[in-house]
Amino acid sequence: MSKKIKRIGVLTSGGDSPGMNAAIRAVVRTGIYHGLEVYGIMRGYSGMVEDEIVTLENRSVANIIQRGGTILKTARCKEFMEYEGRKKAYENLTKRGIDGLVIIGGDGSFRGAQIFSNEFNIPCIGLPGTIDKDIAGTDFTIGFDTAVNTAVEAIDKVRDTAEAHDRLFIIEVMGRDAGYIALHSGIATGAENILIPERKTDINDIIASLAEKEKRKKLVNLIIVAEGDEFGANELSSLISEKLPTLEVRVCILGHIQRGGSPTCMDRLLASRMGYHAVESLIEGRHNVFVGILNNKMNYTPLNEAVKKKQHINDEWMNIVKILAT
Ligand code: ADP
Repeated sequence: MSKKIKRIGVLTSGGDSPGMNAAIRAVVRTGIYHGLEVYGIMRGYSGMVEDEIVTLENRSVANIIQRGGTILKTARCKEFMEYEGRKKAYENLTKRGIDGLVIIGGDGSFRGAQIFSNEFNIPCIGLPGTIDKDIAGTDFTIGFDTAVNTAVEAIDKVRDTAEAHDRLFIIEVMGRDAGYIALHSGIATGAENILIPERKTDINDIIASLAEKEKRKKLVNLIIVAEGDEFGANELSSLISEKLPTLEVRVCILGHIQRGGSPTCMDRLLASRMGYHAVESLIEGRHNVFVGILNNKMNYTPLNEAVKKKQHINDEWMNIVKILAT
């Protein structure tokens, strides 16, 4: 039997994502409901190392469910990569009696949590907070749905100007090494082609398809490129302009707007459910797992299996892109 948890800490670490606040709120309120004391650790692992830890009450998390960003702020912390830094972090937790942690972040943050927990025997539960959806063991991550919807809204706007001028637009979306934002937003906006790191890009195929479309006077096209694809948007634009000089090509890089904004209903729900289950897990004595969602059911994966995994992208998705973009 593991000992009863009394005080928990919550932190957001690594890249931020919309919905992190909703997750913090759920952790705080579920913890307090169960009679736990809840502490907020500022700026990811940095706050643990530098002793920036605050008490959180129910009221501290009022009016944040709809806000993007994270009230606890987030950071990347070099000191935590070293044993000495983690020891300092441990001392700062023990002087407050914090005996459980909830880490909201990506696979890097989970790796840190796993190492820390092995060294100092503090149970850790992860919540996947990343717009990239690049963590195996969960169908969705907190922030992905909001990021995709932001991308869709922006791409729709770009399409209006593309349509007015008969232009080909190459739009780069975020996602680090994963193509999910590109794939989902590309299908949802009727893109002509979607370039993702999980698939090899056949540049000749793209040129041939555009040439054929040009012949039949279909000049308005959108190509969505994931930032992690082997071809950057600018490189792709140069290659196309070189081979098809009569086409008017423009590049638009959506950038950090995809990280901000009010979380969608889906992200708020996901964050609330995951935050609740993170605290329940700690109380039940579940250690060193992250909470995911598979087929709409909670799923627990050991933190050390959360290595960034390129999830399998079904051929069906790529067929849909091809068939619908005629
Ligand atoms: P993400 O969680 O978004 O993947 P990072 O990979 O940048 O982001 O990781 C966030 C933080 O987690 C790092 O700055 C570091 O403090 C901690 N971390 C990551 N990997 C390790 C590791 N191998 N050992 C200790 N801490 C780590």
